[in-house]
Amino acid sequence: MTTGEAVPVNNFIRSIINEDLEKNKNNGKVATRFPPEPNGYLHIGHSKSICLNFGIARDYQGTCNLRFDDTNPAKEDIEYVDSIKEDVKWLGFDWSNLHFASDYFDQLYDYAVQMIKTGKAYVDSLSAEEIREYRGTLTKPGKDSPYRNRSVEENLDLFERMKAGEFEEGAHILRAKIDMASGNINMRDPAIYRIKKAHHHRTGDKWCIYPMYDYTHCISDAIEGITHSLCTLEFEDHRPLYDWVLDELKTESHPQQIEFARLNLTYTVLSKRKLLELVKNNYVNGWSDPRMPTIAGFRRRGYTPASIRNFCEIIGVAKAHSTVELGVLEHCLREDLNKNADRVMVVLRPLKVIIDNYPEDQVEEFDADNNPEDPAMGNRKVPFSKVLYIEKDDFQEEPPKGFFRLAPGREVRLKHTYYIKCENFVKDEQTGEITELHCTYDPESRGGGTPDGRKVKGTLHWVSAQHALKAEVRLYDHLFTRTNPDDKDIADYKDVLNPNSLETINDAMVEPSLAEAPIGKGYQFMRQGYFCVDSQDSKPGNLVFNRSVSLKDSWAKEKVKA
Ligand code: ATP
Ligand code: MG
Repeated sequence: MTTGEAVPVNNFIRSIINEDLEKNKNNGKVATRFPPEPNGYLHIGHSKSICLNFGIARDYQGTCNLRFDDTNPAKEDIEYVDSIKEDVKWLGFDWSNLHFASDYFDQLYDYAVQMIKTGKAYVDSLSAEEIREYRGTLTKPGKDSPYRNRSVEENLDLFERMKAGEFEEGAHILRAKIDMASGNINMRDPAIYRIKKAHHHRTGDKWCIYPMYDYTHCISDAIEGITHSLCTLEFEDHRPLYDWVLDELKTESHPQQIEFARLNLTYTVLSKRKLLELVKNNYVNGWSDPRMPTIAGFRRRGYTPASIRNFCEIIGVAKAHSTVELGVLEHCLREDLNKNADRVMVVLRPLKVIIDNYPEDQVEEFDADNNPEDPAMGNRKVPFSKVLYIEKDDFQEEPPKGFFRLAPGREVRLKHTYYIKCENFVKDEQTGEITELHCTYDPESRGGGTPDGRKVKGTLHWVSAQHALKAEVRLYDHLFTRTNPDDKDIADYKDVLNPNSLETINDAMVEPSLAEAPIGKGYQFMRQGYFCVDSQDSKPGNLVFNRSVSLKDSWAKEKVKA
């Protein structure tokens, strides 16, 4: 763990594990797993599950496997497998073992045969629609399929032929024989195998029948000797099925399924189906678009692994549904970058300033501290010369009350260097735009004060025009305009996409030290926010920066109020 990170707090899952350890259940072993389906990129919700599962393994000297739940070949892809591995590693975790549910296809098949032999599974030949009808509803019990009492021999024969590819998709399915009148719909003879003539990214064309998720998941857990199978609340109603399958199969190990509430975030959708839609229909620029709530998106945006881990600690793990403010996540990033990011000067919207009394060809280099809160982060040189840029909105021709920056006749401090005073300005008469300021500097103010002790109220950041590098800067805002894009009154979440979620500034001016800014390093652009080099589009000589997060911390303020 990096210093400054939140210490894992107790939660109800850790309490269960503590009790189990006291009773020496599972011989004192703790084994968890993170089981993504490789049908999309991981998102911030997954990091909650990752931090929980890998964090428990770390703190209890246990194990945590990464297991791909790859039972739906139509939707899965090796690109997703690779991205998931990369994201888990980037978050700072490593798996004890890497598994694929598809590695268990032979065993899963054998178990299905075993269930047929013990009379606990049968081949059904109703159509999908009939099966739906027969299933009943929450208030109405289901009824038995006419095929439910096929003999073991007939079931074995049909299942074998399903595997051999003799039937079309949908002609037959294998179902567990449980109880069509159960109050729990998941127990009404759930499907455990279906025919699917699809190429699988790992097993190729070996199989044309694939096991269903519920059946696969519990058996995979048991095969791997998982002790605590942690999943999100929507699986609570599936737990009786999880236990039923393992009891019927008399597996050596019987993991305990424990459910927790999934993460929901304001201004965010976390459904893989929706994220895929945003990518496929080009509402965003791919899975790693910095506006996406994917781990790849956050990484490119400039989030640090520590900030995300910290966030997952802060929000805790509970049974109750809740929605977390996006501001909490942003707060975690600011906290990390405030400590670790170098301060640099970048002018986003440049206004030219000419220091009339400064020698034409003179260049002075000033020492600038990288982080005023941490001298160990060192200094760098910033060049100063006659022509500078400051931020357009740091000048006002007619300053309102409370505006302490530059105005005609007004004096301010330029960070790290001198006091300057605005003597006059040039205005484009047609557009009304201020195009140039003429100032004088006070050589005696070098270092931030003057012998006469006069005070100035404003300190501005600046860059030297001849030394600055032009850069593109991308300012991001929420991807959605509504706190809950899935709200009932919104017909389609895409209707509330924020048209201003990306603002591109093409001619920002950055101080020369940023020429070699490495990918993955966070910077504080003084008075602007935290930024990083864009990992995909930035090139030497054509720098592109992403705003990771602004400086304003609305959440911290709310905390103080509360
Ligand atoms: P789907 O099953 O619809 O494709 P999923 O979000 O459940 O989507 P999985 O790949 O099955 O995706 O998820 C892997 C693990 O991450 C599961 O254990 C799941 O419970 C957990 N997980 C998914 N979304 C969240 C979330 N928002 N908060 C916490 N955990 C989550
Ligand atoms: Mg899932």
